[in-house]
Amino acid sequence: MMHEGGCLCGAVRFKAEGEPINVRICHCRLCQKSFAAPFFARAQFAQEAITLRGPTARYPTSERIERVFCSQCGTRIGSWRVNGTAAGLALALFDDRNAFSPTDHIWVSEKLDWVRITDELPQFPEGIP
Ligand SMILES: [Zn+2]
Repeated sequence: MMHEGGCLCGAVRFKAEGEPINVRICHCRLCQKSFAAPFFARAQFAQEAITLRGPTARYPTSERIERVFCSQCGTRIGSWRVNGTAAGLALALFDDRNAFSPTDHIWVSEKLDWVRITDELPQFPEGIP
């Protein structure tokens, strides 16, 4: 199974093969800042399962994670682990926006106050060990 998506302007396209490792909503401050959004909903895949093409740029938000974006339109594509293992692709960018549903909320300790979690998904104050 191949899942495809891309940025707003269309210059960046990605493909992810197989099923994600996990699908989570991250409420951490770094995701809020780097995606300019209250939280980041992403599907995590092995980096080797992802094909990314087009004009991207990246910058580190910690020692472990780099954020990748389209250098033409600025759309944030996702978060890449520096160690090469996994990357999180923004759920909103998949051609089928409803292909994946999150199963967990992480970093709820940094959640915006007005964000009310009304689903039944497990909530974790920080990451899942
Ligand atoms: Zn673009």
